[in-house]
Amino acid sequence: MIDLHAHTHCSDGTDTPTELLHEAAVAGLTTVGITDHDTIAGWEEAAVAVPASGVSLVRGMEVTSRYTTPGGRGISVHMLAYLFDPDARALAKHRATMSSSREARAREIVDRLSADVDISWADVEAVLEDGAPAGRPHIADALVARGVVPDRTAAFDTLLHPRHPYYVPQYAPDVFDVIEWINDAGGRAVFAHPRAYTRGSVVPPKALAEFAQAGLFGVEIWHRDNPESQRAALAAQAESLGLFPFGASDYHGNGKPNRLGEHTTAPHTLEALAHGAFLEVVTP
Ligand code: AMP
Ligand code: ZN
Ligand code: FE
Ligand code: FE
Repeated sequence: MIDLHAHTHCSDGTDTPTELLHEAAVAGLTTVGITDHDTIAGWEEAAVAVPASGVSLVRGMEVTSRYTTPGGRGISVHMLAYLFDPDARALAKHRATMSSSREARAREIVDRLSADVDISWADVEAVLEDGAPAGRPHIADALVARGVVPDRTAAFDTLLHPRHPYYVPQYAPDVFDVIEWINDAGGRAVFAHPRAYTRGSVVPPKALAEFAQAGLFGVEIWHRDNPESQRAALAAQAESLGLFPFGASDYHGNGKPNRLGEHTTAPHTLEALAHGAFLEVVTP
């Protein structure tokens, strides 16, 4: 059982990296991926927890990026980066840029909200792990703590939804640059939840061919945010482009209903992912 997409409190999950490895063992996983948003802060602790958990670890990161349509419209794309050199310059610079731009953007959202609801930046700081890139999930948690909404999902469906004037878009680098940075760092790029309509617009089908041309390694097919009716066609398109198919939970601890191991990746896909990559899989 291999599940290579999971978050910890180093971004917007609720488990510590140690807890993630423990939960992976409880769920019966043999290998888990740590893929926090735009940070690798959880890698070290997660690697330390490998022997006690008996679960192998794939170190990764979910990179926030943007695809621009020919019409000039920006569409948010999440690109999973696996087994890359943590010292590689471009991705290191990206991590620093994202942590500062994310905080400025989150502060602006809180500013706008505070005109109408009882919330301040201190409420967000109270739920934010030191150094974790701030996002709407943390503002959602602050709203829950304040009793404004019952849970995170309710916050996303209402006050934090892009249709509200409180929403502020997040800066993101171009997806083609991101694929290049990942490959230059000896990593593997995997397109996360390509048909996640719940997150907003998705890229047109032809984008997958463009990404493949740019050096994409794989694509998530089995993910709860990809509509079931589209998975077979997506898998066929991926195969025709020579892309490896992935399945994963996108676990966020208590922050989302997604459960570890609800979707998984085939062992031979993990083998191909790790073959020749900069980092090795950490084994117990
Ligand atoms: P942001 O990047 O700040 O706009 O926040 C969006 C991110 O929130 C997405 O990448 C999701 O992974 C994450 N998220 C965490 N919990 C939830 C939830 N309950 N509903 C929707 N998105 C969530
Ligand atoms: Zn997330
Ligand atoms: Fe994502
Ligand atoms: Fe994710």
